Amino acid sequence: MPQESAVAMVLSSAPLREQDKQVTLLTRENGLLKAVAPGASKLKNRFGSLLELFTEGEFHYYWREDREWVTLSKGEIRKSFFPVVSAAENVFYFYFLAEIVLQMIPVNHRDTRVYKLLSAILQARERGLAMEWLLPYFLVWMLRDEGLLFNPERCSNCRNGIRERAWLRDDYRGLLCPSCRRGEALVIGRQELEFIAWTKSAPPGQCAAWAGRFAPAPLIRLLTGAIEHHGEFTLQSRRYLPEFR
Ligand SMILES: [Zn+2]
Repeated sequence: MPQESAVAMVLSSAPLREQDKQVTLLTRENGLLKAVAPGASKLKNRFGSLLELFTEGEFHYYWREDREWVTLSKGEIRKSFFPVVSAAENVFYFYFLAEIVLQMIPVNHRDTRVYKLLSAILQARERGLAMEWLLPYFLVWMLRDEGLLFNPERCSNCRNGIRERAWLRDDYRGLLCPSCRRGEALVIGRQELEFIAWTKSAPPGQCAAWAGRFAPAPLIRLLTGAIEHHGEFTLQSRRYLPEFR
């Protein structure tokens, strides 16, 4: 059977049959990879803590042409984010990030940007940056990478620059200035628009500069709404986040 290896991070892990696990990996180079880890549910197993959420490792696997899932044979941890990811104040946010990636990225999507984005978010959180700012940063970039982000600088109808605030079209595809607005309910303020534009040229590690400039929860809800609208799904894990209560 053909064998291969890939650097990847774990996005989901669930028991399969009595002793195995099924995991979904985001590879650094080649998008998502669905895998079975034989024996991984046993108390003592060859994977150890390699299959924890967001652990980055080198995974060795083989496959058969007639199977959708590859089989993991072994692997080595390159970087464990387990202490950060599993902390009570973080764990539901990381479930949320993983669910978004799993929902938004097609299996054959060969894109390296999402991997880099997640790595940067994990490292920034590890350094203590606030999740309430890292999350909107992540959401903006997921929309931008998929070509789904509205232009935060111009009215999508008259093309005038947005000065103070704007309203989001009901189809989430553009902003409307006060003159072009026709009863749209979702409003977005000057600071929030500047944040969206700022993410284009700044790494997530600089998010601390935004603390206190606006309350991020409404922007988090708005961006999540855009992702759900475009993807035609509802994110199950958002119900555990304080921003959605
Ligand atoms: Zn306008």
